[in-house]
Amino acid sequence: MAKKNRQPSAPQEVYVDLMLMPGTKVLFWAVAECPYCEARHYHPAGTERGDPGERLGEVQAPCGNGPYILALQPRPLRKKGKKGKRRDSWDDFDE
Ligand SMILES: [Zn+2]
Repeated sequence: MAKKNRQPSAPQEVYVDLMLMPGTKVLFWAVAECPYCEARHYHPAGTERGDPGERLGEVQAPCGNGPYILALQPRPLRKKGKKGKRRDSWDDFDE
């Protein structure tokens, strides 16, 4: 278990939307507006086989301006019960 470090400047939380890359089983988190450069950023969220929630948390902004925390928007998420065809060809999607 990690110690709780109280850093003087905690990274800012940004709200993300889970997206499915068209034609693939690859999920990613879309940051609507970067707190540093105000651009849209994307972060790999694994595949449908994994748990995208595991990819939430502190990450480095792709623009290189610093870290932020990927967080879900404070609204209830409706889970879609639809399950696509399972593909075992996606082993690991680690960057
Ligand atoms: Zn940025």
